[in-house]
Amino acid sequence: MMMSDWSKVTRPIPVPNEWTKPFWEAARQGVLKLQRCQACGHFQHPPYATCVSCMAIDLKFEPVAGKGAIYAYTIMYHAGDKRFAAAVPYASIIVELDEAPGALMAGNLLGAPYTEAKVGRRVEVMFEPLNAEITLPQFRLATD
Ligand SMILES: [Zn+2]
Repeated sequence: MMMSDWSKVTRPIPVPNEWTKPFWEAARQGVLKLQRCQACGHFQHPPYATCVSCMAIDLKFEPVAGKGAIYAYTIMYHAGDKRFAAAVPYASIIVELDEAPGALMAGNLLGAPYTEAKVGRRVEVMFEPLNAEITLPQFRLATD
């Protein structure tokens, strides 16, 4: 089974904003940090101004281990965005992290054929530097 050639893909660079800046700063250092409500303990992603669970505004970014399971996936057979043409077919996955149930992270399954993407499959975060400022948290298969 062939693996996607991500080396030929120039990804669009995410632009951090007021809410996502701490997420990107941590990722650049190889740490996955998610926004956590200090009132009820709920992790959420993407970051937001208030807790989606209890509406509190006391939110902080806290590191998580970055292990979880595939919650949903889509196999991309065609590149809607031409920049991704070299990688098709590839798996776009939604991951639910063990420590942050309900906080769903989107990414690509790297280092494995797209056919390995299955709901419930264990994955762990890895970091893909895009440039000096932006490192993209991505996922690979995990053994536990
Ligand atoms: Zn809350």
